[in-house]
Amino acid sequence: MRSLPVPSLSARTLYRACISTAIRRHKRRLEALEQAVVDASDEFEAAASAAALHTLKELAKKPVDEADRTQLTNTYTDRLVPDRSPGGAFYNELKKVPHKICPLCGHRDVSTLDHQLPKMKYPLLAVVPINLVPACGICNWLKGEHVPATASEQTLHPYYDDVADQQWLFARLKWIENRPPEVSYHIRPPQSADCVLAARVIRHFQMFRLAELYGPNAVREMSNIRGILRGINAAGRRKYLLLAEHSILIDKDAGGQNHWKRALFQTLAGDAGYLEGGFDQF
Ligand SMILES: [Zn+2]
Repeated sequence: MRSLPVPSLSARTLYRACISTAIRRHKRRLEALEQAVVDASDEFEAAASAAALHTLKELAKKPVDEADRTQLTNTYTDRLVPDRSPGGAFYNELKKVPHKICPLCGHRDVSTLDHQLPKMKYPLLAVVPINLVPACGICNWLKGEHVPATASEQTLHPYYDDVADQQWLFARLKWIENRPPEVSYHIRPPQSADCVLAARVIRHFQMFRLAELYGPNAVREMSNIRGILRGINAAGRRKYLLLAEHSILIDKDAGGQNHWKRALFQTLAGDAGYLEGGFDQF
C-alpha cells in the first residue's frame, strides 16, 4: 500500500539492452517485436493511469505466434534477471526502493520484481519497466498469475496509485474473557473515497493477506514495549504511544499513514483497558 515514483527508464531502452546479446535467430525475431513492445508499454501506461488495467484484454492475445511469446518471456528470465545478463544492472536498479520495503505489503524486504500484469499472459509486457514492481518474494507468490477481470479487482499499482494521504488501515483490540486479547487489522475507506478505489484497496489487503501479516507482528511489538510501559503510569503510557504513532506517521519513507505500527499505536493509545494494565497481558 505504498507508492513509488514511476521509473524513468523507457521500454525501448530496456528492451534493446536485454536483447542485445541474444543469439542471431532469436535476436532477429525479438528486433521485429520492438515496436509492439513499445506500443504495449504506451497502452499499459494509459490504462494504469486511468485505473483500467482490466480493459487490456486484447493485449493478452499479442503476439499470436507461440515462438514470439516464448522469446519475450525468456527475455525476462534469461536476459534481465541474471546479474551478468545484459539487463542485470537495470534489474537491480528497478528493485531499489527506500529501506528495501516491499510496496505491496509495506513490511517485508524487496527481493524480486513482480509483473503487475503477468508475463505469461502478457508477454509484450515482460520487460516493460512500468509493469515491473519491486516486491518481496511472498507478495510476488501470492499475486501469482492474477489478472483483474473488473476495475474493482485491480490491486494497487505502486507507480500509479497513491493512498498515502489518508488513513485506510486500522487496528482493533479485542478483549476476550479467560483468553489472551487479540489484535486484528481491517480497511476502513475514508468517507470521501471513490467506491472503486475502496474496493481495490480491500482487494489488495485480501490478496496480500495483510491482516495475517500484521496481526502477529503487532503482538510481537506489544511484547517488545511491555517493559517500557511497566515503568510509567497510564498517562505516561498514552503519551509514549502517541509519540510513537506520530514518529511513524511522519516518516514517509519507512512509515506513513497506513503503516501497521501506526494503526497499532493509535488503537493502544485510545484503549483504557490496555493503558490501565492490559498491556501486561501481551
Ligand atoms: Zn511484500
